[in-house]
Amino acid sequence: MTKNKNKLTILGSGTSTGIPMIGCKCSVCNSPLKENHRLRSSIHLETVKGSSIIVDTTPDLRHQLLRHEINKVDLAFITHDHADHTHGIDDLRPLTFPPHGKSIPIYTYSECAAQLTKKFSYIFKAHEQLPNIGGGIPRLHLQTVEIGTKNIINGEEFEFLLLNHGHTQTLGIIHQKMAYIIDCHELTDDQINYLRDKELDLLILDCVTDRVHKTHLWQERSFEYISRISPKECGLIHMNHTLEHEQLKTDAKKAFSFPVYPTFDSQILYY
Ligand SMILES: [Zn+2]
Ligand SMILES: [Zn+2]
Repeated sequence: MTKNKNKLTILGSGTSTGIPMIGCKCSVCNSPLKENHRLRSSIHLETVKGSSIIVDTTPDLRHQLLRHEINKVDLAFITHDHADHTHGIDDLRPLTFPPHGKSIPIYTYSECAAQLTKKFSYIFKAHEQLPNIGGGIPRLHLQTVEIGTKNIINGEEFEFLLLNHGHTQTLGIIHQKMAYIIDCHELTDDQINYLRDKELDLLILDCVTDRVHKTHLWQERSFEYISRISPKECGLIHMNHTLEHEQLKTDAKKAFSFPVYPTFDSQILYY
């Protein structure tokens, strides 16, 4: 049955610090429960058509690729240019090595592409750098996506939303009946209606903390949006150490009549 479905692996479910956070003595950071151990947020898609897609290149990317034996990546999406979503970009390098590796396209929205070009000029402006006499740079090239219309990428249909993330914006990604909505502070009514009209099978939604937050969705607002978007199933992601796995699971179970749950690292979902 799952052969006809797209496979989504949670490579990381945690906020920017990862959980445990270095130096923290709280009960979540010291929890023995493996679901409370969270690498930085990222997903891997293996589509029915055979595409292997990474969303975000976290500082944990090397570990995430090794752990899941991901040896081929056809493309990556970068949701936005924050460090916890981009600073592992160099770990794509072995996948681009000759003879089998080829340049991997990195898809994002235009302002983010400009920021990535600045931050990683040694990759994206390699021609302006000194001649390479070392181990080589990752062969990656930037591509920009169109917002609010269908994009065909690697033979797959995607749609994108630009989301409010405080000082910056984030790319929301829709593939068939799945939406990945991360690092956003609020959705507009139009975006909520758009997502509701998609009749999603699976929504993966930002939920950073148990209290009001200035750049992310927090538990109360995430729950409100889930009710309004009304997917068949919803996984919460990007949790910090105020959210304990079992507690959040219980809260979500109480609040909804359909499956809503905190995701955890290495969880596999299908849509
Ligand atoms: Zn983040
Ligand atoms: Zn962010």
